[in-house]
Amino acid sequence: MQLLHRVARSERVPNIYAAQVLTAQGWRHSVRLILESGRIAAVHAGVAPEPGDDRHEIIVPALGNLHSHAFQRGMAGLAEIAGDSADSFWSWRDVMYRFALRMNPDQFQAIAAQAYVEMLEAGFGRVGEFHYLHHDCDGQRYADIGELAGRVAAAADATGLGLCLLPVFYAHSSFGGAPPGHAQRRFINNLDSYHALLERCRQLTANLPAAVVGVAPHSLRATTKDELLAVAQMAGTRPVHIHIAEQTGEVDECLAWSGSRPVAWLLENAPVGENWCLVHATHVDSAEIAGIAAAGAVVGLCPVTEANLGDGVFPLSELLARRGRFGVGTDSNVHINLAAELSLLEYSQRLTHRARNVVKRASDSTGRAIMEFALAGGAQALGGSGHLREGAAADFVSLNGQHPALFSRNADALLDAWIFASAGNLVDCVWVAGRKLVTGGVHVAREQIRGKFQAALQELCS
Ligand SMILES: [Zn+2]
Repeated sequence: MQLLHRVARSERVPNIYAAQVLTAQGWRHSVRLILESGRIAAVHAGVAPEPGDDRHEIIVPALGNLHSHAFQRGMAGLAEIAGDSADSFWSWRDVMYRFALRMNPDQFQAIAAQAYVEMLEAGFGRVGEFHYLHHDCDGQRYADIGELAGRVAAAADATGLGLCLLPVFYAHSSFGGAPPGHAQRRFINNLDSYHALLERCRQLTANLPAAVVGVAPHSLRATTKDELLAVAQMAGTRPVHIHIAEQTGEVDECLAWSGSRPVAWLLENAPVGENWCLVHATHVDSAEIAGIAAAGAVVGLCPVTEANLGDGVFPLSELLARRGRFGVGTDSNVHINLAAELSLLEYSQRLTHRARNVVKRASDSTGRAIMEFALAGGAQALGGSGHLREGAAADFVSLNGQHPALFSRNADALLDAWIFASAGNLVDCVWVAGRKLVTGGVHVAREQIRGKFQAALQELCS
């Protein structure tokens, strides 16, 4: 189990043949994909299959899931009850803190592995793990500062999901360097301990294929300006992810503290560029949208979680009008479903604008346009490959052409059917780094991982 990747490298991987393949140049027919060392060595279109080819009907690239807190998969569905006060993000956060504060490393790893199995079965090939649970339940550091980061890496190793590990820097409870609260004790580092954690994360992921380690200053609430800049500098050109402007309360507090809105403050005070991912960025004005687009940063949208938390709707059509970039993430992992993320993203725009087909790109269908934008944004934010082309990582998905949702559908209509007209359960097989991890919609290690997940939840929820 722990050796999935290492075993994978020594296996001979068959080449792939499919009737329809969505490549970087568009849909191609009768395609052979030649795989070598986890990458696509060649794409031959308009050819016949050869003996030994692994044959499929429809292949599309695997999407990057640019924002996840894997451990929150364990509390999915436990915060769907109104509290005494007006229910909001903050009462959800209280439930999350109570859950997070009880979890031991084995439970954490079991839950992360289950989340990663579900991501792969949904059609994601890579995850940006925004990892902020670092210390023991009492807030004491583990002997290995990367104990829990190592559990993220182990879950990625056991499942084969591509990993962009984003260790979180978290030092304060609110704007202006307010001391952290007791409930945040498992998250807290200073710059020295964070630097050590980052180095450890690089060691822990060294043997994972195509793993990337970025940085994640948690939010403007959790860092001072000096800390934010120091953490961003530690990334070099690697990914920098930050939660920003998710809640109107956060915007109000930022205005009271600095006189600026969060995204405006960030653009003015930090070197935001193409390696930055602004997660949520829900509450932005036109000038902030223009600034994000001009910087070339990716907006990380998490439609299912943002709907679950009642965050609000990001003004996506304004971003696209300025040629801005976005990708999608499963964030709280309350419901891991790639098609649901993409359909809700479009539907929230339709409801806001009272219009249809809001996400547009040239003559593409809406499903194709959303998929293309999310592929490019996910790859940029996670240091992955994105589109299916020669030289790219062999990360792709086959769809089940025998599913009724796909009958008499071709090319872009296949994506539209998957995203808008199915339960999202059209994934047949999934390959990451050339390794076939999902067959017939089922991950190769689903049963073992499910058993450990069940045991962990029995302990945590008893
Ligand atoms: Zn988040």
